[in-house]
Amino acid sequence: MMAPVASRSAGTPGCVICHTPLPFRQAQTSKLCSRADCHWHYSLLQKQNKICRICSRPLSIQDGFRGVCAAPECRRAVVADQAREQHQQRMQQERILREQAARLREQVTDRFGVREPDTFQLAVIPAAVHRMTRLPARRRREFREYLIKLIDRALALPLTPAVDPDPAAESDSSLREARLQAASNSACACCQGSCCRGGAHVHAFLTLDTLRRYRALHPDQSSRQILAAYLRRVGGETCEGSCVYHRADGCGLPREMRADTCNDFYCNGLREFRARVPATGSIRGFFVATADDKIIRAALVDEERMLLASSAPPVDAD
Ligand code: SF4
Ligand code: SF4
Ligand SMILES: [Zn+2]
Ligand SMILES: [Zn+2]
Repeated sequence: MMAPVASRSAGTPGCVICHTPLPFRQAQTSKLCSRADCHWHYSLLQKQNKICRICSRPLSIQDGFRGVCAAPECRRAVVADQAREQHQQRMQQERILREQAARLREQVTDRFGVREPDTFQLAVIPAAVHRMTRLPARRRREFREYLIKLIDRALALPLTPAVDPDPAAESDSSLREARLQAASNSACACCQGSCCRGGAHVHAFLTLDTLRRYRALHPDQSSRQILAAYLRRVGGETCEGSCVYHRADGCGLPREMRADTCNDFYCNGLREFRARVPATGSIRGFFVATADDKIIRAALVDEERMLLASSAPPVDAD
């Protein structure tokens, strides 16, 4: 919709073609004076798409290809429009994916005779799509240098006492958390480590705290032994462009050696799943791993059991 001319400038509003000042009332409803010439000229510009799509003023030659004039409020409005449009497209795409995932769950549970399909919480998670490749020597060398420095710093600090087993470890809530973790691990196996890509740039997220924690668990190990323990778990072949520990079958590091970031991180889809599981009863999930708005893999999970894992949509999801 065209903005009233009068709202644009503090001065007297004028015809956008001939710039003749417009009477106040006319300026509220029109951007043109009464001359037929101005109306003819303006409608020609409209036909040629030489009108700002926000304020409807004629465009300069430089602004013509953008379809929007140089006024900051028009430029801002266009950026806001684009952001809104992208957001709506994103939401629409997510809705379509969820519908496909829900159909897939129905078909899979039906095909395998699984009762109560709705008890398998639907979760849309990312899918890692990696090529396996030899880890470049340069990356291996950089990682080794980083580790040596980190281990030296950890060994220069006093040994932290190993954390005693949590006396509440057997409590109902921690047992439930362990079951939830088992289901989450299955989700990550279905995804195959999309978030591990971030570990490529920050040396597997390893920090001084990680090394101090490891050292507390292995107080007798020398710096050479700690270095060897971490280096021998780096795969010869790793997922291209991902963390040095990212292998075809998952992470090469046991949990006790991983950084807190690795142990504590849940992507949005998995976080939503974890928040939605009922407080009591079985922890069941139907995980759909997607990339580029397509379903790549799916997994039907009941507690720690993977009932079905598929490397492609098991059935046509459309
Ligand atoms: S946390 Fe999410 S992105 Fe990371 S491996 Fe698990 S499912 Fe994939
Ligand atoms: S250490 Fe393991 S969990 Fe952490 S980013 Fe690397 S591959 Fe992923
Ligand atoms: Zn005019
Ligand atoms: Zn404009």
